[in-house]
Amino acid sequence: SGGFSPEAARKDVPILHRTVNGHPLVWLDNGATTQKPRQVIEAVSAYYSAANSNIHRGAHTMAREATELYEAGRAAVAQLLGAPSPDTIMFVRGTTEAINLVAQSWGRRHLGPGDEILVPVLEHHSNIVPWQLLADETRARVVPVPLTPDGAIDQDAYADLLSARTQLVVVSQASNVLGTVPPVREMAALAHRYDAKVLVDGAQAVAHMPVDVQDLGADFYAFSGHKLFAPTGIGALFATPEAMAAMRPWQGGGNMIDSVSFERTTFAPMPHMMEAGTGHISGVVGLLAAIDWLRGFDKEAVAAYERALMSYAQTALATVPGVEVIGSAAERIAVLTFTMAGHDPASVANWLDKDGIAVRAGHHCAQPALAHYGLESAARASLALYNTSGEVDQLVASLRRLEQAGPGAGAAEG
Ligand code: PMP
Repeated sequence: SGGFSPEAARKDVPILHRTVNGHPLVWLDNGATTQKPRQVIEAVSAYYSAANSNIHRGAHTMAREATELYEAGRAAVAQLLGAPSPDTIMFVRGTTEAINLVAQSWGRRHLGPGDEILVPVLEHHSNIVPWQLLADETRARVVPVPLTPDGAIDQDAYADLLSARTQLVVVSQASNVLGTVPPVREMAALAHRYDAKVLVDGAQAVAHMPVDVQDLGADFYAFSGHKLFAPTGIGALFATPEAMAAMRPWQGGGNMIDSVSFERTTFAPMPHMMEAGTGHISGVVGLLAAIDWLRGFDKEAVAAYERALMSYAQTALATVPGVEVIGSAAERIAVLTFTMAGHDPASVANWLDKDGIAVRAGHHCAQPALAHYGLESAARASLALYNTSGEVDQLVASLRRLEQAGPGAGAAEG
């Protein structure tokens, strides 16, 4: 596809040039975390070498500079998500913290006995467990939305489950298990007819598709920087101004107050009210650099390249005897989760690792989704813009050698 070559991204990412077990690294674990371009690494290093300061405190030059960088990061995230203003963006540790923040700061206030939270069976544990904890506290109910046999969210069942009791609908914009892309916009529009709020988990989507929170109709949108070529420990939560107005502090401390006295404490305006304590300033610097790095590529061309690579990988994997890719819903991005007859997923990953190929094996923090397929564990190859068809060929060749070596061949020794 004319506009984008993976080499343009690969040349920037130093770790892709290391070897593992004597082989050039083939990083196919992007769903777990992405590798970092030198622009991100250097921005973080430059920040600590030349600009480190706390923000919003102390009237000195470096505090002002750090504050400007931090707020530039917020503006970049707002633009990335199509948010109406930087003030709608809260910095958090990642998707997990964003979801827990919504549960605590919004959910605790709004949910009571009998209220319902609709949660598709496909969701990541981080989009299930915080709602269970909240439901325990408020005596609300978590209602699972079932999947169709091919792994799509059952839209008829969803429509039937919505009611006046529904306070919140949560959904991932892209599944970390199947790579499927549910009709989030339609689901949100339907939820809003019942005055329910909608939280979209963008952890697996942001690196692979354009996001527009306003077009999606998301009241809340969460993502993790580390899945977007930025450092770990930084992520963001978008909330509409209306949803923000209904949120109350979940952590108290510095930064989030206006004034404190033992008689009466008042809070800083949003989004700062949700950001108690010193933030991950270097993380924001890295996230800003990652967003800038991505801006250097043509979005449409990258998406077209990734689509072509996915379809190449899907076809190639299907040629390996015994390999079965799970989930057959039509639109999918970046993720291929598979099983291999005669080889447990941990052995498949172990075998591939000997060839320098990194895939994840396990439950992918989505046990209910795997249970839908009668599985406890599976192997997952997840792609990013810097992966190549040559790497897919290496994956397939290694799996073929495993198949020829026979059952049990991949098991770890000892
Ligand atoms: N949701 C989805 C769909 C994910 O894939 C992940 C990460 N595997 C998360 C949430 C949690 O992200 P984090 O661990 O960065 O908070």
